[in-house]
Order: sequence, then structure tokens, then C-alpha cells
Amino acid sequence: MKPFEYKLTFKDFNASLRKNKLLALTCGSCGKHTCPPKLVCHECGSTDLESTALSGKGKIVTFTVSYVTALGREGEAPVLITMVELEEGPWILGNLVGIDPDRATMEALMGKPVRLARARMLPPDQYSGGKELKGGFARPTFSLD
Ligand SMILES: [Zn+2]
Repeated sequence: MKPFEYKLTFKDFNASLRKNKLLALTCGSCGKHTCPPKLVCHECGSTDLESTALSGKGKIVTFTVSYVTALGREGEAPVLITMVELEEGPWILGNLVGIDPDRATMEALMGKPVRLARARMLPPDQYSGGKELKGGFARPTFSLD
């Protein structure tokens, strides 16, 4: 039996985010994109996947402001967390920067176009196993376009 081959590992996804490049998996069966990377196509479950660079452009479909952060990241609060529908289809969670979280309103943000910004870096912590990623995790980060 052929061993499973990862077409896009989280480590490579993370490294590309650090260079402001958003990678996804494109499905050879249905043509849809899966982002962040998973073992199978998010749409049809196929393992016929290839790594692809996405535009990093999309629109805000929802957001929230968090005043509570993970242990050791208290200095981040408040943080604007957004769900972005990418131009290519996938929805991805990330941070929204360039907006005062205390001034974030539905009218100001819902449906607004965004683009990938310089990734926020998160130091490795006791929960994420991030010690394997030198320099920590790159969190998808967006700004208004
Ligand atoms: Zn598919």
C-alpha cells in the first residue's frame, strides 16, 4: 500500500504565511480549494490534491472581538478575529488588523473586502506544539482592502 503523501503540510503552510503568501490545496476531482490544508478535499473528500497559491483576497463574512486570549498571550487582547471568504471559495479564520477592535461595527466590517496582510506571529505555547515551528505560528492576518 502506498503511504499517504501530504501535498501541503501545516509547516509549509505556516512558512508561506510568514512570506505573506497563502497556500491551499486544489482538488483534482472537483476543482475546489481547501484552505487551511487538510488531509482530504474539504468539498468532496478526494486525496487528489495539489498545493496552490491563493490571491489572499476575500471579504469579511463575520467577526468578533475577543478580550480573552490563550494563556501567555494576554498582551494580545483585545483582538479582532474574522472569518474571511476567499475569492477562490474557502473560508478561513484570521485576525483583522488596522481597525481599532473597540470601534469594530457590523456596518463598518460586514462584507467588506480584505487582503492578506503581514502575518501576526504567535510564539510557541504549551498547547499548540509550536516548538517544532521555529519562530512560532504565523496567524492568517487581513486588512481592509
Ligand atoms: Zn474535491
